[in-house]
Amino acid sequence: MNDMRVAIIGGGLAGLNVARLLHRAGVDIQLFEARGRFGGRILTVDAQGAAGEDGFDLGPSWFWPGMQPAIAALVGELDLPSFPQRTEGDVIFERMSREGPRRYPTPPQEPQSLRLAGGCAVLIRELRRDLPAERLHAGVPVTRLDLRAGGVRLTLPGRTVTADHVIAALPPRLMQATMSFNPALPPETETLWRGTPTWMAPHAKVFAIYDRPFWREAGLSGTAQSMVGPMPEIHDATTHDGQPALFGFLGIGAAERARIGEATLIRACVDQFVRLFGAEAARPRATLYKDWAADPLTATDADPASSDHPVFAPQWVQGPWSEVLTMAGSETSTHEAGYLAGAVEASSNAAAAVMQGIGARAG
Ligand SMILES: Cc1cc2nc3c(=O)[nH]c(=O)nc-3n(C[C@H](O)[C@H](O)[C@H](O)COP(=O)(O)OP(=O)(O)OC[C@H]3O[C@@H](n4cnc5c(N)ncnc54)[C@H](O)[C@@H]3O)c2cc1C
Repeated sequence: MNDMRVAIIGGGLAGLNVARLLHRAGVDIQLFEARGRFGGRILTVDAQGAAGEDGFDLGPSWFWPGMQPAIAALVGELDLPSFPQRTEGDVIFERMSREGPRRYPTPPQEPQSLRLAGGCAVLIRELRRDLPAERLHAGVPVTRLDLRAGGVRLTLPGRTVTADHVIAALPPRLMQATMSFNPALPPETETLWRGTPTWMAPHAKVFAIYDRPFWREAGLSGTAQSMVGPMPEIHDATTHDGQPALFGFLGIGAAERARIGEATLIRACVDQFVRLFGAEAARPRATLYKDWAADPLTATDADPASSDHPVFAPQWVQGPWSEVLTMAGSETSTHEAGYLAGAVEASSNAAAAVMQGIGARAG
């Protein structure tokens, strides 16, 4: 007899969704999350940078209900208010440094991108609401899996636990790089996982939070594209309750970012905000910076080198592990892999497959 029916590794959107679906179906689950917080790549912070459930999205910001029915359905089921990414006003285009930035009317946005009121962490808050706290373990990394008669032994800090089945709700590349397997994964599985890019892992975001949305007052939407940098893409990040902010993705590679350092990068980004949006941008109330490539619970050394989309794989786990291990992270989804929508779809499919297996074994 094992300690639990299903052990879930990872407490991001995928892990918590699969936990919720299995718990709702009466399956005995325990979830182990390495970070001290839940959410994974979903990270909403306040102006001081403290993680919470209302503020600025340092990870994902948008979903596209028109082409992503899985996340649209979850947002609907959880009854979460959303609002469109602000695009009213002109867009700015900066072509080269010796030519001033130019403004153009914003083209209609298709498909429409939506943001969640409060930030994406509200998804995590709502998924956790249905789950007993004693089944969710934060700050507990799983470091090793041993295949044994009747299930799997998981190595956690200072102890081991056993489960009939394991659901891995984390990027395959991260899992391959940071966990050990006994017996070893088949070479084709190892190659597949290592070759699957973790979506957005090479990227970094910078936010500048202001007292007034001065760019709106000047008829600008907050959207800008730049071939000068350091940010090639900038958007309005004002919260639903009206804290004005702009954010941009850094266009400088991860190794170079590490060399330059956060303080210098933020200064260069604020200078760019001034160039594009005017002198008032020079005095943000606060700035925020998150470099996902430097986060070892998202990115591996391989990620900065490849920022492609994950590709479809017909079988994520081969050999003896295929009976007891199911992948559920966004990168393993058949649709919208890498996105929030992919995390919902892959985890819903994993829950259905595991419940079917349990039903078959019980019968
Ligand atoms: C900067 C950025 C912007 C993005 N923008 C968008 C967007 O606008 N729209 C969109 O749809 N998607 C976007 N994404 C992608 C989106 O964030 C992901 O698709 C989604 O959050 C993935 O969820 P997940 O649960 O599959 O994986 P993750 O969120 O990565 O969760 C995996 C979890 O596993 C944990 N873990 C890792 N190793 C272990 C271990 N050994 N033991 C236990 N736990 C472990 C991690 O700590 C993490 O909590 C963005 C991502 C980033 C980084």
